[in-house]
Amino acid sequence: MRGANGLAGELSHLHADSAGPMCRCGARGCLGVVATTDHVLEAARPLFGPDVNIYDVLGLAAQGEATVRRVLDDFGRLVGRHLAPACVMLNPELIVVDGTLGPAAAPVMEGLHDGLRRHMPDGAYRALTLTLGRLAENAELLGAAHLARAPM
Ligand SMILES: [Zn+2]
Repeated sequence: MRGANGLAGELSHLHADSAGPMCRCGARGCLGVVATTDHVLEAARPLFGPDVNIYDVLGLAAQGEATVRRVLDDFGRLVGRHLAPACVMLNPELIVVDGTLGPAAAPVMEGLHDGLRRHMPDGAYRALTLTLGRLAENAELLGAAHLARAPM
């Protein structure tokens, strides 16, 4: 199902924040412009200083640093909360999450589970499996190639 103009399934355009930044789609506060690396860094800067970057955050996550893991868990929870309505509507049995998260994967996935669990009917949540993708940085390119070959 691609929808009337091919936007069906573009979950990054789910609404997340009425006061959020403008998205390239023309709407304001889409999940894809709210739940970003900048969001993680905004949460991390008061804890680790103004110069902290995403590589620092990933390094701290790899070391098991508790507060950075909480920041990443909160990020996953934010995504889960906003993804939950789509999951209620579509009742998927599988969600594949970007496999390039590296050491952030565990805390982000924990938060994502929590955000979905709190905002979905219990039966729908229990029927859902979340997993990390195995295609890593090739996922978008391979998905686009698959889409181009698929019948309309
Ligand atoms: Zn958008």
